[in-house]
Amino acid sequence: MISRDELRQLADFETRRPDEFAITFYFQPAIPKDKSHREEGIQAKDLVRKAIQELELNNSHRAVLTDLRRILELAERLHGNQARSKVVFACSPRDVWREFDVPPVLAETRLFVNRRFHLKPLAALFSEYPKVWVALADRQNARVLEVEFDQLREQAAIKNPLPRHGSSDGFNGYDAGHTQRHKEDEVRRHFQQLADLLKSAAQRKQFDAIVFGCNDLNWPELEAQLHPDVKKKILGRFSGELNALTNEQAAEEALRIVRSSLHNHHLSLLNETLGEARGNGRGVAGLRRVLRSAELGEVDTILMAEHYSAKAVECTNCRHLDSHLVPYCPVCGRATRQLDDVCEALIPLAVKNNLGLVLLPQDSKLDQVGNIAALLRFRADRNMNNLRAAS
Ligand SMILES: [Zn+2]
Repeated sequence: MISRDELRQLADFETRRPDEFAITFYFQPAIPKDKSHREEGIQAKDLVRKAIQELELNNSHRAVLTDLRRILELAERLHGNQARSKVVFACSPRDVWREFDVPPVLAETRLFVNRRFHLKPLAALFSEYPKVWVALADRQNARVLEVEFDQLREQAAIKNPLPRHGSSDGFNGYDAGHTQRHKEDEVRRHFQQLADLLKSAAQRKQFDAIVFGCNDLNWPELEAQLHPDVKKKILGRFSGELNALTNEQAAEEALRIVRSSLHNHHLSLLNETLGEARGNGRGVAGLRRVLRSAELGEVDTILMAEHYSAKAVECTNCRHLDSHLVPYCPVCGRATRQLDDVCEALIPLAVKNNLGLVLLPQDSKLDQVGNIAALLRFRADRNMNNLRAAS
């Protein structure tokens, strides 16, 4: 798998000379029923061979040919790659060769030769496979697990055993009631302890989504203690006795819920964003506004259609991105260069600034606003107005 840090390093990369190329190769193994491994291997090799042939016609691209031949050799050895996608980033003049095995990200094998690496499918992977925390709780114990790609880690364990009450606790109704209230207080404190731990973790962005494992009887009590920052990350709950569940079983239950609710979660994120955009709140829609908000540092998450692509220009000096194809930068006045797809520059920007990226299947509401929108952390202009109004 690839880490956010590794992705950030790749996002920083850019070629410096016209004869340097950043090559990105996505090998997508076929679904076994569809095609044989032999066929998919041929497909990958054909793709690279074709690129080599095209470049051989132009003798000036020695380095890119070296990289492509190395990719061709790799493609000859892949044989299905255990149903994982293989991604290669290469630029031999700069000594870059990185290989990653990731969950399937693209529908087909692709090869990109450009000034920057093609990161869109990988950047979106973090919203397709969010870092999930699984919180298991009963009235005395709690366990918090973290599931990220193939890795399962226990983050915390809380034990608050209820005091044992024997015959020495008293012999009349008053004492029995008192003991019962005391127990309820202990349970409330126990859930509060778990809720506090989750609240601070949510605020430190230690997880992207959370699933609870808690039985129906205890859930209302626990839920009442949860902070809104935790609540909005809940993808679902399963009922189970945590003492009877191994960490692996709990993770499996949680991932089943994640897989079935993630799409709806993304759609509600889209609705929230578009609603906020209409009310000039914490949302913007359309490329021009998304670019502006990204430059102002307002963006939390970018939402775009899977196949979104748009022409744009990038300033060669200050890196301003503009959806109007202007020859000179409106910010600093220097020359701009045209981008066939704004994602070439926008995605590395998003990765470097740790912004969320959600790719959505065809959606009419998103289509109406130009297939791109962003949920904001704040709105700079409105805060400015508030400041002005206050002063
Ligand atoms: Zn500029």
